[in-house]
Amino acid sequence: MKMLRTIPLAALLSACAASASQADEHRQLGAHVHGHGKLNIAVEKNVLAIELEAPGADIVGFEHEAATAEDKTKLEKAKATLEKGLELFTPDSAAGCKQTSVKVALEAEHEDEAEGKGKEEHAAKAKDQKDDHDHEEGEHHHSEFHVEYAFECAAPDKITNLTFGYFKAFPNAQELDVSVIAPKGQSSYEVKKDKPKLELKGVM
Ligand SMILES: [Zn+2]
Repeated sequence: MKMLRTIPLAALLSACAASASQADEHRQLGAHVHGHGKLNIAVEKNVLAIELEAPGADIVGFEHEAATAEDKTKLEKAKATLEKGLELFTPDSAAGCKQTSVKVALEAEHEDEAEGKGKEEHAAKAKDQKDDHDHEEGEHHHSEFHVEYAFECAAPDKITNLTFGYFKAFPNAQELDVSVIAPKGQSSYEVKKDKPKLELKGVM
């Protein structure tokens, strides 16, 4: 566990991303399950880094390109909500965390890729991994939000739990697979909508 402490934060986060899928990006988007997102949490010194990956379906309720004014308004609103990291993932106030940066990105398959190569991959995947597919017929592409937060915490060791306002803010979201890399080791959890809290006692 001691080695983990010396690995730079960026390397930890990219290692998480790389292990999530050996396939290319489109396959990765195609493989997501609506309602299920991922959260990577890493703590190093006074920096708490949180990375969220969530299907567009969970965040805005659709994954097609925003075409109408209504879609665009939904996207803007969602982005503004996603930017308030401390309201979505709230550590104990005793830890004294302040958000220092946030980056929101929306990644989507392009229409032409979805029609051509993407479609074949999609069909192949559907055969192999039926469980990973639960979206309505006629939807040939996915989109996914990637958000990177950085917080500075006066006393990160005082983080004993995280409260997930996320599920209230985004009612379509059901579950987050959470991985935590902290001074005392690495652990993973599932946090669900009906119990939107993550116990981290003894982890930080
Ligand atoms: Zn999708």
